Amino acid sequence: MTDTPEAGISKRRDLILAQLAAAATPPPVLVAVSKTQPDEALEEALASGQRVFGENRVQEARAHWEARLARFPDLELHLIGPLQSNKAEDAVRLCDVIQTLDRPKLADALAAAMAKVGRRPRLMIQVNTGEEPQKAGVSPDGLPALLEHARSQALEIEGLMCIPPVGEPAGPHFALLAKLARAHGLTSLSMGMSGDYELAARFGATHVRVGTALFGERV
Ligand SMILES: *Cc1c(COP(=O)(O)O)cnc(C)c1O
Repeated sequence: MTDTPEAGISKRRDLILAQLAAAATPPPVLVAVSKTQPDEALEEALASGQRVFGENRVQEARAHWEARLARFPDLELHLIGPLQSNKAEDAVRLCDVIQTLDRPKLADALAAAMAKVGRRPRLMIQVNTGEEPQKAGVSPDGLPALLEHARSQALEIEGLMCIPPVGEPAGPHFALLAKLARAHGLTSLSMGMSGDYELAARFGATHVRVGTALFGERV
């Protein structure tokens, strides 16, 4: 086999899956972050058996996956980027998991969209564990009120997601997210990216979001 970038995806995926299996039992689900990737890369990932993908914009998620859903009904699409309330309906129509619920207004919009569309994607709340002003996510202190608000809208929250601050050790953020999830009886933990997915697995991640380590550098 020639060493095309596409051929690399399958090999890199095998390696990542082996590392995850060595780090935790059961291993976390590998969410392949396919934002900005070209069609050939998406096809190679599909050919390698990958079915769970993450995108950070609804519009790009639709461009990448809407037509492919007919060929791969078992695709599972995760929205991992910030969601504007006015895109909630589009997200509910397309996505299987929305990881970035982070404010009451968005909870209201998602509840309304689910009622209208008749489809209920799984939900995670994004927590801004580093309390960074520029970053999306509810603050750890604001989490209980947001959970209560979501439940008042009959939204079931499955877990928590975080993106630790760049340049800080991620471990304490993963530990905090795990502790918050335990405290609220939530079972899913989306944490860990290309640089730290094994660490996240050891801290109890149920989902790791891996882009460049799987696909190569984004174009
Ligand atoms: C892009 C992105 C990732 C993947 O990042 P890599 O470092 O390429 O693995 C994970 N999570 C979120 C929220 C992202 O936007």
